[in-house]
Amino acid sequence: MTRKAIAPLSALFAAATLVLSGCRAQTAPTAQASQITATPAAQLSTPAPVGTGGPAFDGARAFGFLKAQCAFGPRKPGTPPHEQCKSYILTNISPYVDKTVTQTWSYHDDARHVTLPLTNILGIINPQAKKKILLLTHWDTRPTADQELDAANKKKPIMGADDGASGTAVLLELARALHKQKPAVGIELLFVDGEDWGPGEDKMYLGAIHFASNPGEWRPDYAILLDMIGDKGLTVYREKSSQLMDPSLNDTVWADAGLLGYRAQFPDAPKWQISDDHDTFNAHGIPAIDLIDFDYAYWHTLGDTPDKCDPKSLQVIGEVMEKVIYDAR
Ligand SMILES: [Zn+2]
Repeated sequence: MTRKAIAPLSALFAAATLVLSGCRAQTAPTAQASQITATPAAQLSTPAPVGTGGPAFDGARAFGFLKAQCAFGPRKPGTPPHEQCKSYILTNISPYVDKTVTQTWSYHDDARHVTLPLTNILGIINPQAKKKILLLTHWDTRPTADQELDAANKKKPIMGADDGASGTAVLLELARALHKQKPAVGIELLFVDGEDWGPGEDKMYLGAIHFASNPGEWRPDYAILLDMIGDKGLTVYREKSSQLMDPSLNDTVWADAGLLGYRAQFPDAPKWQISDDHDTFNAHGIPAIDLIDFDYAYWHTLGDTPDKCDPKSLQVIGEVMEKVIYDAR
């Protein structure tokens, strides 16, 4: 993914945020006064967090998936670690889903004179369900550490512990939970390839483009993208293009995060506008949002390694996704 440098939309949201803050500041004192006089003290205390409605999500198990992917090495398309990671995902998803579908294709990069073997992996739960929710993440990793300062380091591939492995880890653990207790709707867990090839955006999001152009019977009602959600001190702000394209889905996610007691990890405010796989889905008429913690100092550097990540972050994301899924009808 890349950070959008376009200003007008950001300015628009900044203006909207200011207006909203102004409204709140004016109304809040009155509401508090009436609550204090009319409501018994017991009802004023913060309500206990609700459950997800599903089985316990195991953040430690998810973190094991993150470390295992990194143990293969950088998952740069066309290399043995990429191939090994594909087998690893298939092995770990297949026992827990009703159906596994792969999309394989080749992508030729003229500038690098290389043809990449790419694979999207789709694990489907309740394939007959009319309503389908898709969760996606990319499983490939960036071949170039563009954000390094040293020219030689810029050419090296990144480990992608947060940028690649974290979202993949959450989806793999979610599969186990969803198998234990089937949701009321169809769930599609999509692992896309070639998201981070680049270096420019004209050569990124390859797997999302391939799927969104060829979804066949697996076209979902809407999609949620998980990207860079495993870092320590997780803070996921509302991504601005997601907010523009599907505000109601964003509302659901942020409300659920609050109900679960994770407001600190999901501050209810917009921050970054990120170009990512969700844009491709939205462009193909599939509403999609991006859950991403872009405040990560190791983005596209050689420092994106498992020690910068935290099982607790995967736990929070996993539980929020469970609540969204088990509440869906
Ligand atoms: Zn990336």
